[in-house]
Amino acid sequence: MDTVKKYELCEEYIRYGARVTTAKLVSAITNTKAVMMYRSIHGTGSETGRDPQKWANYLSKPYVYGPMQKFLLCYWKLAGEAMLDDLDHEVVLSAYKMYAGIYLNDEQKIGLTVAWSAARAIAQKEPGADLKFCPDCGRVYMHGKRALKVCPLCLKAKEAFKNAKNGLSAGAL
Ligand SMILES: [Zn+2]
Repeated sequence: MDTVKKYELCEEYIRYGARVTTAKLVSAITNTKAVMMYRSIHGTGSETGRDPQKWANYLSKPYVYGPMQKFLLCYWKLAGEAMLDDLDHEVVLSAYKMYAGIYLNDEQKIGLTVAWSAARAIAQKEPGADLKFCPDCGRVYMHGKRALKVCPLCLKAKEAFKNAKNGLSAGAL
């Protein structure tokens, strides 16, 4: 990657909400430059803190599980099988843009740093970043501690359907 491209990638990652650590890793520019870039874009310093190390634990948090699944749908669409063995920072960014656009009005969204970390975890086949295909909708999903039989979105849909049916029969009594 040439220098101009590196800077552009770093800048885009920062604009879309990645922390300095992530932007620096994907673009391979120096820490000082990344920090300066972050400040000039956001006017403040970057958040600190580590990315989750144990995906199995992290994914079981409900506020991550649903949004993560939505991101993976976009990522899978763009990267296909390559998501299992190749981490392409530009593809991850494109997938994130798609995700942020499609789910614009969702209250709960994951940040680009989390999305990128998940993509990395999948490519590196880290424990807890196991992918499965949903037998109902055919989409890919990442499962953590709870080995789900269908993807979290289909699971939610099934629950909603069940609740609606129960509500109907309760109303009939
Ligand atoms: Zn599904």
